[in-house]
Amino acid sequence: MITKALLLSLLAWIGSHTSYNVAQVDAPRVELRTNKEIQDIYYGDCKRDTQSNILAVHSSGVVFFNKGIDIKKKNEQALVVHELTHYLQFVHNDQMPKTHEEREKEAIAVENLWRKNHGLKEVERLVLKEPECA
Ligand SMILES: [Zn+2]
Repeated sequence: MITKALLLSLLAWIGSHTSYNVAQVDAPRVELRTNKEIQDIYYGDCKRDTQSNILAVHSSGVVFFNKGIDIKKKNEQALVVHELTHYLQFVHNDQMPKTHEEREKEAIAVENLWRKNHGLKEVERLVLKEPECA
């Protein structure tokens, strides 16, 4: 279970390692979904990149994780840090990077800084292009 206490502590960590102000920010709503549902939320009616597998997604203040997430593992908490960074970009939309690619790079950088600070290997995540929508 992803508790509010965990979300708030990870938000506080992000706040002390980035320029995002988290003082007034409440924890986002979190929902657990199947892998297929996560792909559906990410792509909606847009063109799907079938080569990639979206692990988690933020959408308008709600963060969706795979049902199988094991939050006791630091490795999987890193994914929460990544999505919370997208959540903060959404909350502080005046401050967030302007392009989809830059927002993704920022979330990967914050995730990797957290990994490094917690003795984990950094990951190389594919920076996906913004989905093409009709
Ligand atoms: Zn991302």
